[in-house]
Amino acid sequence: MPGLMFQGPLPPLSIRQAQIASRLEAHVRHLTETIGPRNFKFYKNLQRSVVWLEGELRQSGYAVERLPYEIDGQIFENLHTLDDEGPFTVIGAHYDSVYECPGANDNGSAVAALLELARLLPGRRDLRFVLFANEEPPFYKTEGMGSHVYVQRLLQNAEPVNNMICLETLGYYTEAPDSQKSPGGDWFPTVGNFMAVAADLQSNDLAREVVGRWRSQVAFPCLGVAATPESEFDLIQAGLNMSDHDCFWRAGIPAVMITDTVFYRYAHYHTLEDTWEKLTYEPFARVVDGLAQILSQTLSDGCEVSVPGRAKPIFP
Ligand SMILES: [Zn+2]
Repeated sequence: MPGLMFQGPLPPLSIRQAQIASRLEAHVRHLTETIGPRNFKFYKNLQRSVVWLEGELRQSGYAVERLPYEIDGQIFENLHTLDDEGPFTVIGAHYDSVYECPGANDNGSAVAALLELARLLPGRRDLRFVLFANEEPPFYKTEGMGSHVYVQRLLQNAEPVNNMICLETLGYYTEAPDSQKSPGGDWFPTVGNFMAVAADLQSNDLAREVVGRWRSQVAFPCLGVAATPESEFDLIQAGLNMSDHDCFWRAGIPAVMITDTVFYRYAHYHTLEDTWEKLTYEPFARVVDGLAQILSQTLSDGCEVSVPGRAKPIFP
């Protein structure tokens, strides 16, 4: 990956970052306390989430469309903005939570980040914000997964999607020693104070662009991983494919996951303890501010996936 990981003390939080921090906290609290668990079992909460998310994106000036689909007699909805023209980057996050968990970090943090990015990057013709239903079990890696349904729609409509940024569990950072575990060995830093960019081989150029921009512009540690066939660890085993970006990968669309590394760092993953006050809003705000900064310019296209017929069968 280009550049060097930021090291040393972080600069003082800017006023803009402090505002982002309090908005992120408010979003996560709304989703986890006011609304609560949100999935097929807590269906009313899922519907309340959609109404709220739609309103928030509209407040940022984006037109929004709901995309309902049916699984086992139940209607679920993906949500996307409509302002893009020509080739675009998908900024995506799932808004459901697992079991009866409040899902503050997984994935309230990413939803909050997406809402903030839409507010900080208004009126963009090269970005499409998408909120997915049903990332969590029992829909995970099935045809009921919101991102799977969404990718099929992109391919059927031959939409000019360039690439995808998946926001997944990205609200927890710590300076504590030995706070970071590592997939497939011990090659990650041992302090969990960095954000990570995870890619597969076809997304290597995208990952390098994201990491390169980050390291030259943002004062916050960023680790980049592109798993190649030569990698020392198995991408699947490592869990690098464990979110909505996997559906894009399977369709041949370059995608990276932006994350705090989830269960390699965060102890409350998929538990009832994944509550809003566990998140660290100041470093989280630096990450969101950094993302807004590197996305202030259009990303390179990275692929020609809008060609119909490029779709590979997924979930065979
Ligand atoms: Zn999850």
